[in-house]
Amino acid sequence: MERDKRGYYARLDVPPTASASEIKAAYRHLVRQHHPDRGGSGSGQEIREINEAYHILGDPQKRASYDAESGEAQENRNDTLNNFNPLICRSCHKITAQPRYLIFRNVYSFLFFTTRVPVQGIFCAPCAKSVALKSTVITSLLGWWGIPWGPLLTLGNGFHNALGGRQDASQNDVLAWHNVNAFLQSNHIALAYGLAEKLLKSQNREIATAAAEITVLCRSNGFKPAGELKDPWGAVRSQAPLRLAILFFLPFVLSAFLVANHDPPPSRFEPEQREAASDYTSIDTAGGFELDQPSAPVIATPLATCATPPSNGTVLSGAENLVSEGHVLEIDNGSSGNAIVKVRDAVDGSTYASFYIEQGQSASIEGIKDGQYEFQVDTGNELDSECSFFAGDITGSEFPDPEYLAKEYFNVYSGEGYLYQSLQYTLYSIPGGNVRPVTTSADEFNSD
Ligand SMILES: [Zn+2]
Repeated sequence: MERDKRGYYARLDVPPTASASEIKAAYRHLVRQHHPDRGGSGSGQEIREINEAYHILGDPQKRASYDAESGEAQENRNDTLNNFNPLICRSCHKITAQPRYLIFRNVYSFLFFTTRVPVQGIFCAPCAKSVALKSTVITSLLGWWGIPWGPLLTLGNGFHNALGGRQDASQNDVLAWHNVNAFLQSNHIALAYGLAEKLLKSQNREIATAAAEITVLCRSNGFKPAGELKDPWGAVRSQAPLRLAILFFLPFVLSAFLVANHDPPPSRFEPEQREAASDYTSIDTAGGFELDQPSAPVIATPLATCATPPSNGTVLSGAENLVSEGHVLEIDNGSSGNAIVKVRDAVDGSTYASFYIEQGQSASIEGIKDGQYEFQVDTGNELDSECSFFAGDITGSEFPDPEYLAKEYFNVYSGEGYLYQSLQYTLYSIPGGNVRPVTTSADEFNSD
């Protein structure tokens, strides 16, 4: 797992894309599970390791530098692998040429209770704009109402949210530098050139020097500068005054409105309080509260979609090809959607078997015969009416190298038999995990 240099995410059993509340929930779950006082089996060592991981990942600032550090580690490795992907926005999952690592903190406060929920990661400018607005509105509406910390934290954090999130310029330069290299490798020279020009003024001397070398190289190879690369972040900055106004005036306008309309009396305010209160309990106990992606309250789907989605691990095709004793393929789906994985015969390209893995779950198929296989993966949220592939625009991807699976004969003391291989892959929506899928076309994915 490259995005997890010291294995902290793995220790808490969450993907690097996990939200703050998912991390907290995972931590609590593990502590409960391992705690000797609660009849758990864990050793002191295990608990110490879990605590160490949570100490870093539970703190937004520490997590940001850990992510950056892991990113650099990945970059170095990628250098040697000669395989670089441009960075992806954690919110829309699209490639973003000029990414930034941002930390927002939503403040919830009521009576004597105050809490902050961080939303952080790599964002593209359009998503940053909407997350900044959302964080500002949430904090403005729900942050002020508890003592003593509500107003204090709302001021400090609300201010940062309104200005577009906390960020660190040198961290952002590292991300941009990653993209310069990714674009160079994928032959988007003009884009790489434009980005490199922007990095000439980086505070990070190493990056500034390397960027200068790239620009010289581009120029001497006859490339013209792309002109000033458009700055998508201008739009995020220009909305800051609006967000500041929301932060300070929304609660007062709202209260004035409530006071002026005191018939129908407090009932107008109640739903909000109730909503706030239920947020607290879910943060505090269940922890399954997802802020940045109001996890799809499965909206009424259009007609031509799958009525009953397959359950996790369902074999969609090729069940007849699986034998009782064979190799195992296990997929851990940490990506941003449900996934269909296709196992193809690498020789003739036919589909050997395919199966379905729900988001955040893992599933495996067993009984794959000896042979050489390629693996393709497609992620999405809505299946077509026959529940066999994802509806809408499909971007399938495939694992870069075919795998050769062959059983091995063994004879150890008394027993003899065959050993089968077990492949395990982890899918992530951001470069990392042990799979770096190569994009393939929808037609290619859906062909048999
Ligand atoms: Zn985005």
